[in-house]
Amino acid sequence: MPRIALITTGGTIASRADSATGHVTAQLRGEALRTGLHDPLDGFDLVVDDLMTTGSYALTLGDAFRLARRISSHLADPAVDGVVVTHGTDTMEESAYMADLLVDGDKPVVFTGAQRAADAPDSDGPRNIADAVRVAGAPGTRGLGTLLCFEQEFHAARDVTKSHTSRVDTFVSGEHGKLGEVDGDTVIVHRRPNLAGTISTDRVEEDVEIVKLGIGTTDRSIRLAAAAGVKGIVIEGFGRGNATPPVTAAAIELVGQGIPVVMTSRCQRGRVKPIYGNGGGRTLAEGGVIFAGDLSAQKARILLSVLLGSGMPMAEIRRQVERFGM
Ligand code: ASP
Repeated sequence: MPRIALITTGGTIASRADSATGHVTAQLRGEALRTGLHDPLDGFDLVVDDLMTTGSYALTLGDAFRLARRISSHLADPAVDGVVVTHGTDTMEESAYMADLLVDGDKPVVFTGAQRAADAPDSDGPRNIADAVRVAGAPGTRGLGTLLCFEQEFHAARDVTKSHTSRVDTFVSGEHGKLGEVDGDTVIVHRRPNLAGTISTDRVEEDVEIVKLGIGTTDRSIRLAAAAGVKGIVIEGFGRGNATPPVTAAAIELVGQGIPVVMTSRCQRGRVKPIYGNGGGRTLAEGGVIFAGDLSAQKARILLSVLLGSGMPMAEIRRQVERFGM
């Protein structure tokens, strides 16, 4: 019988409303999530690891790193066949991508959560946990990298994003699409991702900021971040990877000071590529800004925090961002 470690961290799946304040907060411990399952999951040996009871909007890059290490320590046990992590949906894609970058081996790691709180009569949490356990225990899901299972689908951590604030079918992988689905007790793998590998590091760099651009965005945020000692910047720029002239000038200055600046796009689909002059993407690239393929800004930040944490020099960071950005 497959043994699955269930690591619980909080989120809506573990939340209920406080009767006095009305605030919805994460309160349910791991054992309560297990006993709240509607599906007895006969045929699975579920071992609960009650790690945290936190809303994922309050987690840090350090928390995501510790979670990845915890996953690895469970997987190091030869008796454990896979890991399921319950997590808030707000930043689940980021913790899942951190695990994807750090956790070695081919045993399945599957993140899940809920959009409707544990005290909602139609909470989606119990079904999502049961589906995630089935995905983690299915032989066909070995070697797929870290997965996110939600609303009967599972996705690659690299590609998936939360697309809707409240609906239960919130997780999508844009034009990459899902990897597979769960139909009752059957797990179907539709395709296998092209994985870029893992990275070895003892720490992550937490001082990495995202600067999002709108028309006419000034260089204020990027210069303030630099003055405060930021270690890396991800720009979520326009279209193919362009920025406003003042942001481009500031970004090139930062690169000159040894701070890596990574370019992503606020478009939800497609890759960044240096094409335009006059302060656009070509100017950025010639100034040393690194282009991150089709990684979203939040995924590029996870990657940069891991690469910086490993102590790589700038040239190697560039090589790795280009490799994982594809
Ligand atoms: N809406 C969130 C959730 O689904 C809250 C959080 O991310 O913790 O869990």
